[in-house]
Parts: sequence; C-alpha cells; structure tokens
Amino acid sequence: MIERQVSCTVVNGLVAAPSGLVEADIGIADGKIAALAAGGTLDAGERVIDAAGMLVLPAVVDMHVHFNDPGFPDREDFAHGTAAAAAGGVGTVVDMPLSGAPAVTSVESLELKKRAAAERAVVDYALWGGLVDDNVAELQAMRERGAIAFKAFTCFAGSDFPYARPDVLFRGLAEAEKHDLLVGVHCEDEALTSSLERAARSAGRTGVRDFLGAHAPVTELLAVDMVLEMARSTGARVHICHATLPEVIDRVSRARREARVTVETCPHYLIFSEDDLERLGGVLKCTPPVRTRETVEALWDCVRSGSVDVISSDHSPSTVAQKNPASGSFWDMWGGAQGVQTMLPALFTHGVRRRGLSVEMLVRLVSENPARLMGLYPRKGVIRIGSDADLTILDPSARWTLAPEMLLHKNKHSPYMGMEFEGRVTATLVRGAVVFDGRGITADPGSGRLLRGSF
Ligand SMILES: [Zn+2]
Repeated sequence: MIERQVSCTVVNGLVAAPSGLVEADIGIADGKIAALAAGGTLDAGERVIDAAGMLVLPAVVDMHVHFNDPGFPDREDFAHGTAAAAAGGVGTVVDMPLSGAPAVTSVESLELKKRAAAERAVVDYALWGGLVDDNVAELQAMRERGAIAFKAFTCFAGSDFPYARPDVLFRGLAEAEKHDLLVGVHCEDEALTSSLERAARSAGRTGVRDFLGAHAPVTELLAVDMVLEMARSTGARVHICHATLPEVIDRVSRARREARVTVETCPHYLIFSEDDLERLGGVLKCTPPVRTRETVEALWDCVRSGSVDVISSDHSPSTVAQKNPASGSFWDMWGGAQGVQTMLPALFTHGVRRRGLSVEMLVRLVSENPARLMGLYPRKGVIRIGSDADLTILDPSARWTLAPEMLLHKNKHSPYMGMEFEGRVTATLVRGAVVFDGRGITADPGSGRLLRGSF
C-alpha cells in the first residue's frame, strides 16, 4: 500500500482537537487532514507552516450570511463576501436565500445562485433555500439540487420573500418533517411589530427608541412561542435564528425535551447594547435589534452554560448610502449589520479574553455545531484525520484596531470600526490550501466548492 504523500504540515501550534487543546503537528494530504501527531514529531511536508505560539482551530462554519449575489453587487457579492470570510477565519459559509435577486425560492433561482457562487467564492459554501407562501411542494426538489436547509420568516422580509404566515409555516414544517429538512426561522411577530411601527410612524416618531419600541422583546418571544409549538406538533427539525434574549434560550432549552430545536445567536447581540445603537446609529441597525446591557450579559451566561448551539454572523451588507438615508429617519435606514470578517476576533476578545469562554466552547459554537446542523460534520467543523484540512491559525497575543481598509467585504462600514481586538487571524486554509495569509487573499475566485450536506 502506498502512503498518501503529506504535502503540507502545520507544526508547533496549540491545536483545538476533539479531545481539547493539544500541542500537535498536522499533516495534510489531498486537501484532507492525514496525520495528527505530538508537537515537533511530524516530518515536514513540501510546505511547512510554523504555528508556534498560535492557536490552530477548525475553520469557522458561518451558517448565516447574506451575500446578495446575484442581484445587488453594490451591496456584496460572493467574491468580496467570501474574501471577508477567509480573512475572518471562516472556511465555510452558508448563504441565505433572501436579499439577492431572485430570492432562492425555487429550483430555478437556486441554480442561478449556485452559478454565481461557483464563479466567485474563495471559501466553501452551502446554500439555504427559502420557505415562502407558495413553494412548500418544491422544498424536496430544492434539497435534491443542493439547498442544505430552508429559511422562513414569521414577519415581513421584503416584497420578494413573502413571510410564512402560520398556516404556511405549519404546512412547511410538516413537509420538512417528511423529508427531514432543517428549517431556520426568523422570529418576530408580524401583527404586533407592524402595528407598533405604523403607530410610531403616523405619530411622526422616527428615532432609535421608536424603532426599538416596535421590535420590543415581546415581539420576538411571541413568535418563538408559536414556532416552538409548531416544531413540537410537527416533529420537524427547527432552528431559531439570531436569538437576542435569554428568555428565548430558556424556552428552547425547555422545548428540547419534546421537539428537535436548536438556537443561534450572533456576536452583535453579545457585544452591543441599545445604548450602543443610539451612539452608532444605522450601522448597527438590524432585526431583531440589539438589547439592553443587562440582556447582553445574561445572553453571555446562556452561551457559557452551553444552552446556545451556534453563533453565526448574520452578515447583512448594504451600501453606506443605505445606512444614511436623506430623511434621517431610523425607519428608512437599511436593516442588517456586517460581521463575517469580525466574528471570530470579536468572540475571542469579548468571550474568551473578557468573559472566560473556553476556546473549546468557542470552537463548538462557531465550527462544530454549525457543521453538524448543516450535515457537514465531520467533513467540516473538526480537526481529525479524514476531515477537510480547513484550518484557522489565530495569534492569540495580537492586539489590533479595526480600520476600514482592513475590511475585505464590499462596503467598508462596520459597527466594530475603531474597536480594539485581541487575537488575529494570520492564516485560513480551505482543503489544505492557504486562502488568506494574514495580508490578503491567496485563492482564485471560484476555488470554493458547493457543499450539499448529508443527513
Ligand atoms: Zn439573516
């Protein structure tokens, strides 16, 4: 038998292996992890990456990004979005079905999205399909063509992406259960949110606090309660997207006894408060919105206790102009914050360094668990023999401050601008190839591959 030739070794790093942090060398052959050995013991391959003093993590699997491609290249595209991902230590992205044109709600539109990503992506990718009002019968066909999971909204999500009214969601979840599809849900109660917004607008109230009032915690909780009950009664696998409240995490924890439910939150809900939104303005506007400082800290308790399954970026791009409408009204500002590039350093800084989150827990939240949920594990999300050699090398001692020119996504705005970070990504590997070398992108557009998942 001929041994596969190890072509690259990553040596002397502190490796986040399934057993915990270990000093180890990693051998890579044919894009996969071919050897894991005690530090300093592996023979060098053709190429050696010295990771002395560095953390070597499974590359992040960001299961919630909006790259707007095809459709709105002024906001983002796969070239820029995946470049920013690579620079942020993200080796796999899972792109959402809305905010591009056309929205991915049919086999046809899925094929267009696949083509756009295939031409431009520099990291691996998978695609969400949409569960909207008229496509319940098409979900399984979309799954067969590569949609890895399905996204639904309980509230307005744009005219091209009809939200799933309760009857549609119920039928959609029943269909999803039949084929074992995962459905991710954006939870805000449409009737309450829209009527609160209408009331504020008609009274001429256009400020930050008016926006927060229309998206008060009760609007999120009402929708979560409905969705969890539907998950229980249909038996479908349901993922609650971007939870902002510890009460949501508690409800999911209770529901796990009777339903197949998981929950995610995002870095911005763990870092920024309502006061920060008031200070920063539109750049941090998103829905559901950021909450009080007290809520932020309580959400960290949920994360540290293991009650949260996933942290994703919900990278939602826009132009600078869309964040600064001429009206000055908060209602008219684009909703969605950019964060695919900053997620890992933000969580390392605010979680690992400041709040005692373990590196092992961080890896579970941003790599292993999302890979499992998307049916990509153990190909992605773990450093073990046979897995794709998707590695993020992070210098834990580096301190740096975010400046616009560092951002590789299309529009150089970020709620993190000017923030000081601890921990810097010095390299990202996808299937053994360095795609980001600490300075720039070293992969060709189109080198990323479509992942279909397996359940
Ligand atoms: Zn989103």
